[in-house]
Amino acid sequence: MRLDYITIFPDYFSALNVSLVGKAIETGLLGVGVHDLRQWTHDLHRTVDDTPVGGGAGMVMKPEPWGEALDDLLAADHGRSCLIITSPSGEPFTQAQAADLASYDRLLFACGRYEGIDARVAQWAAKSVEVRELSLGDYVLNGGEVAALAMTEAVVRLLPGVIGNPESLAEESYSGSLEHLLEYPVYTKPASWRGLDVPEILLSGHHAKIAQWRHDQAEELTRRRRPDLLGD
Ligand code: SAM
Repeated sequence: MRLDYITIFPDYFSALNVSLVGKAIETGLLGVGVHDLRQWTHDLHRTVDDTPVGGGAGMVMKPEPWGEALDDLLAADHGRSCLIITSPSGEPFTQAQAADLASYDRLLFACGRYEGIDARVAQWAAKSVEVRELSLGDYVLNGGEVAALAMTEAVVRLLPGVIGNPESLAEESYSGSLEHLLEYPVYTKPASWRGLDVPEILLSGHHAKIAQWRHDQAEELTRRRRPDLLGD
């Protein structure tokens, strides 16, 4: 998979070189380009923002540098592509979105700053590439870089060869057999720690009973923390 990021803060993306994503880059499973939006400006101050038309506080990202950046980056054919515009007013990014995006050959992330990107950029880009405006959650970040990194991690760990044991993806919150549930509590050794014991059933070796206990725990946790997932 090819990943491209357009940002005014390229340094954020040094985090890509760490852990499983870093390893996937090293082994060639991922190709990555981090692009400073300011390279597509033409004035002395490398301006990427301007005042909002219609009035109001803050600044808006100008369409011209974005248009030129996308023209340049989309000129290279990397197969089935999707432009992701990070935005708190986008569709919620979910595990299902992550699984779907993992099937693309290339993802481009547009990281907004200020009050966001001039709305015509998404309209224009949609003429030549699939565009999704995606939100990381119901809160406002200063910029799209952290959102792009979070989405990257959720997508990349689903690519074949990235996670050492693919079976660990089969039973996770929001996916596989736990599609509408949060994952049950997990434990490791020792069986007793600071007066707290691992639930006895997990030490029984009885696989069917353990599976039932985990399912009950997942349901109970979901009902308590995220009843919306159960459709209650
Ligand atoms: N004025 C915008 C609003 O009220 O919806 C907020 C703009 S925010 C300060 C600047 C940029 O941060 C956005 O253009 C977007 O790229 C990114 N951003 C902020 N919150 C986000 C979220 N929850 N999900 C994805 N991107 C977000």
